[in-house]
Amino acid sequence: MKLVFLGTSHGFVEVGCFCTATLLETGGAYYLIDCGAPVEALMKNKGKSLDHVRGIFITHMHEDHVASLSSVLKDFGRRTSTACATFFFPEKAGIEAFLAWVRAIHGRTKNDRIQFDVSAPGVFFENEDIRVSGILTDHIKGYPTYAYRFELKKENKKILFTGDVCGDMHDFPKEAQNEEWDVVVSELTHFHIEEHIELFKSIQTKQMIFTHKHRQNLEVMDRVIPQLPYPVHIACDGDEFETE
Ligand SMILES: [Zn+2]
Ligand SMILES: [Zn+2]
Repeated sequence: MKLVFLGTSHGFVEVGCFCTATLLETGGAYYLIDCGAPVEALMKNKGKSLDHVRGIFITHMHEDHVASLSSVLKDFGRRTSTACATFFFPEKAGIEAFLAWVRAIHGRTKNDRIQFDVSAPGVFFENEDIRVSGILTDHIKGYPTYAYRFELKKENKKILFTGDVCGDMHDFPKEAQNEEWDVVVSELTHFHIEEHIELFKSIQTKQMIFTHKHRQNLEVMDRVIPQLPYPVHIACDGDEFETE
């Protein structure tokens, strides 16, 4: 498996740093975890064809995580496209709103190769290669706008994506401390990491990759990283990590 960090900024773009989108490459297929803009450009710049995307998993509907969805759908509609993918939204209302938006800007939404579904709690996507589970967080409170974190499993490999969490970290995944992970991909914006250093010290992972990063935490990471008992990477746009 390979993780390609396409965009690694917080809720706003920074110079050389776009909003959140992570590409997972496995079994000859691509999966996108969040779809901040401009995903299609960032993939093309890296020579990654959207034709190989099989699933798009959206943690929540904040713009920094979804802004490229309509451009990606448009690319899937090219006559030469071979993409055969499912968009997983955090809730049905999001699918309906997205399709209404697409009708307004493209005039049509029908594409037999593209499906839309919801990332309900528990395992919501499974094929011969990977299994993806969703767990609700409190980053957005209550229907009709939910927020998720994702657990991604392939044979004996496990990756945890925290999604966005709350400032007090009460919804930071307990399983990060209670289970062993190959990779934890954590956001680095909605909390002051030095106030939660004991929590981060207790995480059981072979490596930690921070994305969705904000200056307030980047400025203290020189002090934080030496205290953490696992290798830490602060992802920049375009960084790639092999997990096997
Ligand atoms: Zn965000
Ligand atoms: Zn958010």
